[in-house]
Amino acid sequence: MVNKPVWEALTQELNAAGATLVAVSKTKPASDIQELYNLGQRHFGENYVQELVTKQEQLPADICWHYIGHLQSNKVKYIAPFVHLIHAVDSYKLLVEINKQAEKNGRVIDVLLQMHIADEETKFGMEEAEIFGLLEHYTAQQDAMQHVRICGLMGMASNTDDEAKICSEFARLCNFFTHLAETTFFAKPYFAIKSIGMSSDYGLALAAGGNMVRIGSMLFGSR
Ligand SMILES: *Cc1c(COP(=O)(O)O)cnc(C)c1O
Repeated sequence: MVNKPVWEALTQELNAAGATLVAVSKTKPASDIQELYNLGQRHFGENYVQELVTKQEQLPADICWHYIGHLQSNKVKYIAPFVHLIHAVDSYKLLVEINKQAEKNGRVIDVLLQMHIADEETKFGMEEAEIFGLLEHYTAQQDAMQHVRICGLMGMASNTDDEAKICSEFARLCNFFTHLAETTFFAKPYFAIKSIGMSSDYGLALAAGGNMVRIGSMLFGSR
């Protein structure tokens, strides 16, 4: 079951803020996705490869599927034919594999680099220095890397009630984004996405400058 009034209010709020809503449908049945689709939602996020492939086969072809979870290189080939945006690139090796599979499918795949902003050890993502390292490799190999487009950054804040802490983590990502936009990605208009914010902290993400939010439980109920 989908919470229609919540979706409507959220959509209005995000439209006003110029942000994109990715409805995170992981573990939820295809019927829930169809319900939101019928209301007008087109961007959906999943974080298990097999589940995403199964749902993609069952649901309308014009859905924009976002892969938001940790992605293993050996699984890229299953989603490469159709994925709209891969949020959580956390190594150059993964980027190379995405480029390879995109080329096989005659596509250019859009990706985000996952930045580690939370203090918990368990969260995936790269520190600033690792991102600089990845971009150095990418720039050096740019002719061979024409089948991926780095469109921005993604991050997950600490799981805490401390709003000031969450705000400072989001601000760190947004400041780093601005730095990259003004240097490495100077005059590249596609470098434009800051994917931050989930059900519990999307308001703080918008305030920090986020323009893509990934929201699950608020729309579909708890998992
Ligand atoms: C599950 C998930 C979300 C959505 O979380 P909710 O709290 O249900 O809104 C967002 N981003 C990622 C990476 C997720 O895995």
